[in-house]
Amino acid sequence: EWVLHSLGDKMNQIYIKTKVVSGEDSLERLGKFEDKTIWLIADAFLVDNKSVNQITEKLDKSNKVVVCRDVVPDPPLEVVAKGVALIHSVQPDIIIAYGGGSAIDTAKGVIYFSRLAKYEKELRFIAIPTTSGTGSEVTSVTVITDTQTQIKYPIEDDGILPDEVILCPRLTVSVPPAVTANTGMDVLTHALEAYVATGANTYSDALAEKAIELVFHYLKQCYHEGDNLMARSRMQEASNLAGSAFNIAGLGMNHSIAHQLGALFHLPHGLANALILNGVIRKNAEYEDMKKRYAILAKKLNIASLDTKDDDAVELLCSEIRKCQQEMTMPLTLRECNVTTSMLQDKIDIIYQNAMNDRCTQTAKYVYSKGEIVNVLFG
Ligand code: NAD
Repeated sequence: EWVLHSLGDKMNQIYIKTKVVSGEDSLERLGKFEDKTIWLIADAFLVDNKSVNQITEKLDKSNKVVVCRDVVPDPPLEVVAKGVALIHSVQPDIIIAYGGGSAIDTAKGVIYFSRLAKYEKELRFIAIPTTSGTGSEVTSVTVITDTQTQIKYPIEDDGILPDEVILCPRLTVSVPPAVTANTGMDVLTHALEAYVATGANTYSDALAEKAIELVFHYLKQCYHEGDNLMARSRMQEASNLAGSAFNIAGLGMNHSIAHQLGALFHLPHGLANALILNGVIRKNAEYEDMKKRYAILAKKLNIASLDTKDDDAVELLCSEIRKCQQEMTMPLTLRECNVTTSMLQDKIDIIYQNAMNDRCTQTAKYVYSKGEIVNVLFG
């Protein structure tokens, strides 16, 4: 039996709004607007190294273009608030987010709160991702960090879905190997979590399975050959598919915990996910229905043969993930990221409490106890 729908409830929904253009020449689709005010919310690093010019030079000369270079990793509330304060003076017709998940989430945060702050002009929102990781360009989610309380808040609203996305692999060739590895692991975590989330259905399964297959085929190639446009393009698609998968199915405890690691210890999001991914799979696989799902997946992807026992298939999946992480020389433990046991012990109550309140926990089939979170973190 290849498809199991016992994980979710008895009603399915998919909502697909965003036009996605992909491929080496996809940037040619940009710039067909005349006499508009365009607010380009861009990653500061990509503004400073002039990467952003690849976008501005494609825009029609009749446009007024305002570039915002305030985006920093893990968008803080203050940056979003500054954007909301500015939007009434910029008066954009179009917002273009240019950068990784942080740039796209900043733009989404500004759009979300601007609506609440009564910015009523019709806005077109275009996302141009430069990392292959978050899939934020096709999700209804933005993750904003409250730096005071050290909590990352996922906010969900269909109104922040981009209208249009351009996936141009040329924009990702400059991503350094370590960021390629981290963001690639984020893609894998999205797809694997979507596969076992309570909202999983036939559509999200299809998207997640393809995303995982693409990650296992192309991520290492992107890491070793950063300028391989074919591999970069496949990873962009994988990221996009995985984002669409979890936008339908939801995520789970891996993300609820990783959000706390990111906020407390400033670990890059994809790395935080990767560090606990196998621990989460093994924990989930203690439940028969979850184990079956992972085993089906491992068999579909030819990681395990059809007659492999479910327990062994889960272990083969974990070892495939571990091999991928090792080949990309990723740290494999929190300790290797300078997060010691005593640092974790000091924060475990807050990690548990905030993970319980994280909205990703709402779509986890099995919610972990504090002891189980400890095992995942220390395991
Ligand atoms: P990022 O956007 O923070 O970028 C990581 C680093 O890579 C930055 O230093 C950036 O300057 C650099 N960079 C980006 N593009 C580059 C390029 N082309 N060349 C060279 N350097 C480049 O990282 P990310 O992993 O894409 O995004 C992480 C954020 O997204 C986190 O805040 C995370 O919580 C959030 N997130 C959001 C969603 C969602 O659905 N909204 C999903 C998952 C994660």
